[in-house]
Amino acid sequence: MHEAAVAENLLQSIIAASTEHSDKKIVRVVISCGQINAINDEAMQFAFAAVAEDTICEGAILEIKHIPLKSQCRKCKLEFDFDFYSPTCPDCDSGDIAIGADAPLLLEEIEFEEDD
Ligand SMILES: [Zn+2]
Repeated sequence: MHEAAVAENLLQSIIAASTEHSDKKIVRVVISCGQINAINDEAMQFAFAAVAEDTICEGAILEIKHIPLKSQCRKCKLEFDFDFYSPTCPDCDSGDIAIGADAPLLLEEIEFEEDD
């Protein structure tokens, strides 16, 4: 359960990134993250809603995109999205897999409320 710390950091990044629009409320936030340090969507949304209270993010919708982990079979060179539940090559079934770098947690998009 590291979602609370992640949510707090995320909130600080959002506030820092939105200083130009400081009087506007945020309605939607999109983040992406990788697979190894994957966050639980439900726990993250709950944690974010809690830290967002009384800030410009209060009530904002949080969308979480999970970026697949790229990997390549060392045997047949097939590139595919790594799956922790079946860690073998989908083509030749080899377990000799080179796993790429995990995607970091990124703030992708902030949507502000419209002017009246
Ligand atoms: Zn293969």
